[in-house]
Amino acid sequence: MQLRQHLDIPNTLALRSTADYGCEAYSSADVADAQAYAQAHQLAFVPLGEGSNVVLHARVRSFVCLLRSAGIEVLQETAEHVTIRVAAGENWHQFVLHCLRQGWYGLENLTLIPGSVGAAPVQNIGAYGVEIAQFIEAVEVLHPQGEVVALNAAQCRFGYRDSVFKHQPGYTILNVTLRLNKQDAPVFDYPELQAALAEQTEVAAQHVADAVIRIRQRKLPAPEEHPNVGSFFKNPVVSQAQADELNVRIDDLQTYPMEAGSGRVKLSAAQLIDRAGWKEKPGNHVSCWSSQPLVLVNTGGASDVEVFTFAAAIADDIYRRYGVQLELEPSELS
Ligand SMILES: Cc1cc2nc3c(=O)[nH]c(=O)nc-3n(C[C@H](O)[C@H](O)[C@H](O)COP(=O)(O)OP(=O)(O)OC[C@H]3O[C@@H](n4cnc5c(N)ncnc54)[C@H](O)[C@@H]3O)c2cc1C
Repeated sequence: MQLRQHLDIPNTLALRSTADYGCEAYSSADVADAQAYAQAHQLAFVPLGEGSNVVLHARVRSFVCLLRSAGIEVLQETAEHVTIRVAAGENWHQFVLHCLRQGWYGLENLTLIPGSVGAAPVQNIGAYGVEIAQFIEAVEVLHPQGEVVALNAAQCRFGYRDSVFKHQPGYTILNVTLRLNKQDAPVFDYPELQAALAEQTEVAAQHVADAVIRIRQRKLPAPEEHPNVGSFFKNPVVSQAQADELNVRIDDLQTYPMEAGSGRVKLSAAQLIDRAGWKEKPGNHVSCWSSQPLVLVNTGGASDVEVFTFAAAIADDIYRRYGVQLELEPSELS
């Protein structure tokens, strides 16, 4: 582990951010050394992958450990399934493409999601009707006390964009074990995907991957060209009574059901931001993406203060207009 003072933190929102201390970790031993160093110096220890789901302050007073470990290992293979162990530092999209080339299926709907394999279980990444939790056998983590433990899928407590790792920071994911299919049985009942594949007589996993890439490229700004961290706010959950009241004020209010009997519904943060006119109101060096206003884009050299100021202005306005509190979707790191 090569310790660095003043580590510049790479992030897809292209914010300038420097951690007081940090390192790049190429192995589990590097991560353990880094964690031990941080603990010995009373520094908060923060594992990061590619910085595609964090909003960073200019100065980060923690020890930031950038996971850069590599390796994809087959643990078991039958005619139907393959079980593979993947290092946390592998790039997620490249890993999905590798699986397709090998004839390992299931992850094709999750293609082009930015970030690392190690971060993928943290928010149980999902898209187009599939989430990583469906394939997870085990997640190997470094515990704050220093031992390495393997959590099975139940212990990871996966939920919608949620897992134990969001609520119990301090676990660093070292490796992820997945069980994938060797039969090409694509899932494409998600309406947008179904429509994109309507003309395809026989649909294979590769067609799904290609369609997902086309849809994502059309809808979402590529971080390399338009720096962003995907959805900036969570979709808010409100009571059915509040949704009924908003339904009178907002045409075609989009609502998504929650668990039966909860009396709560999820709203579309994008719709609220759109209806409040924020697509037409850029901030300083930051604006809402025109075809997906939930995504805030750094339009050139934005500072952390400019991004947080713009986000706060949107959230305040939505609260004033609709009484709905928007919350940040990515992690905030200072
Ligand atoms: C354009 C765009 C589109 C996106 N689309 C989707 C989508 O469709 N679906 C979806 O689910 N997400 C999406 N995201 C969010 C993002 O891709 C995922 O959250 C991704 O898993 C983040 O990976 P990362 O390596 O960049 O994580 P980072 O941003 O580096 O870290 C994110 C969080 O995970 C923690 N973390 C990172 N690595 C580890 C580790 N090894 N152990 C423990 N904790 C760790 C960090 O401390 C931090 O809290 C999108 C993002 C962008 C920019």
